[in-house]
Amino acid sequence: MTAVISPLTGEKIVDVAPTPVEEVDALIDKAHTAFATWRAVSPGDRARLLRRFSQVIDDHIEELAQLEVANAGHTIGNARWEAGNVRDVLAYYSGTPERLFGRQIPVAGGVDMTFHEPIGVVGVIVPWNFPMPIAGWGFAPALAAGCTVVLKPAEVTPLTAIRIGELALEAGLPEGVLTVIPGKGSVVGERFVTHPLVRKVVFTGSTEVGEQVMAGCAPQIKRVTLELGGKSANIVFDDADLERAAATAPYGVFDNAGQDCCARSRILVQRSAFDRFMELLEPAVAGVRVEDPHLESAEMGPLITAAHRETVASFVDEGQVAFRGSCPTGPGFWFPPTVLAPVAETDRVYREEVFGPVVVVVPFEDEADALRMANDSDYGLSGSIWTRDVGRTLRVARGVESGNLSVNSHSSVRYWTPFGGYKKSGLGRELGPDAPEAFTETKNIFIATD
Ligand code: NAD
Repeated sequence: MTAVISPLTGEKIVDVAPTPVEEVDALIDKAHTAFATWRAVSPGDRARLLRRFSQVIDDHIEELAQLEVANAGHTIGNARWEAGNVRDVLAYYSGTPERLFGRQIPVAGGVDMTFHEPIGVVGVIVPWNFPMPIAGWGFAPALAAGCTVVLKPAEVTPLTAIRIGELALEAGLPEGVLTVIPGKGSVVGERFVTHPLVRKVVFTGSTEVGEQVMAGCAPQIKRVTLELGGKSANIVFDDADLERAAATAPYGVFDNAGQDCCARSRILVQRSAFDRFMELLEPAVAGVRVEDPHLESAEMGPLITAAHRETVASFVDEGQVAFRGSCPTGPGFWFPPTVLAPVAETDRVYREEVFGPVVVVVPFEDEADALRMANDSDYGLSGSIWTRDVGRTLRVARGVESGNLSVNSHSSVRYWTPFGGYKKSGLGRELGPDAPEAFTETKNIFIATD
């Protein structure tokens, strides 16, 4: 049994049985059998089932949200958004089955057409930081494309995924179409990688494990999508609305207690605006409400585990702390929002993903310097640019080697638009209008007419 621990109290919530490998194999076989029928469900009926699934999620938003507050310590506001995101992503991709068009291509001597054939069983491996949305970004477009899904939640946050699996059945999805398999990464996740009937792995997690997953998929030329770590830059030019840039910067990095692959954990500020920006940032950080995540007013909750809190703490050199926010004391894995400056570009905290509420603020000289610093990273997932200069907006946005940039904003993930990373932040894209195609093989058929 694996004890699921509350990050708020440190107490056990419930035990969840890890799935042994023989049972994983049996469930993958079942998903493979279900694939034959699921892909044959008419497009209109598959669309209807996904819409119904979306509706059933909507009927359980509060229950799912409360479960996530308990299991992951997310603020209730965030957790409601996350459950709503699963609903919305399902609704969005319920439009897919009836619109998964091939093409008819002009050729000599006949007719040529393409089909998007579903790939088969897809294994979705989910991390603990956003258990609900990341699951949905994998399973919704896969199911819409006609694939069946086996899904492994993270060991420490399995509860919402298990509930979503039950709700899928309640909505009328046939058995074996979406199967949630809790357990260890080294057992269940690893089996998704090695089992020949799993035709694609969608992995979200650390770059280290992502590399192993990619290597493990190679012998079977198994399709793989990777959503990995980040060390994103928030670039603030001196012509920006500094008040807004500083007021929003804490939320660009401390949301979800900084346990966000898109966290803007390096704030790069033009030297001419640096002092003013720091003056404005200090009260903004002090104003972040770190408190019991059940409270409607909470803006940040605890870290996920005691071990993770230690890892986060290991990045903080007390001599580098410019200022801190506050957090509760007592039980729970609390860590205050922490701002470090000055730091060197060689420091570990500048280069590595902290995955906690720790941000560095570093000055740059000019546009070229900002680009150099933003791109001096193994990662390239997201980032923000603050400026009022339209030309610079586009030059810098085109120049940053990153999959998702926002200008005068910190938003990263919108389900209507593609999401994914450059460099060691990942491979492939999720979400947006094209995501279902990543769960298909393009088949070309030529029919001679002569
Ligand atoms: P992790 O890599 O430790 O685990 C992720 C998942 O992989 C878990 O379900 C785990 O059980 C499983 N796993 C572990 N070993 C495995 C193996 N050998 N084979 C197959 N599966 C295995 O990551 P984590 O600590 O849960 O999550 C934090 C990381 O995820 C951070 O680096 C963060 O940046 C990244 N992340 C990226 C995105 C993105 O979209 N780019 C989103 C969220 C999180």
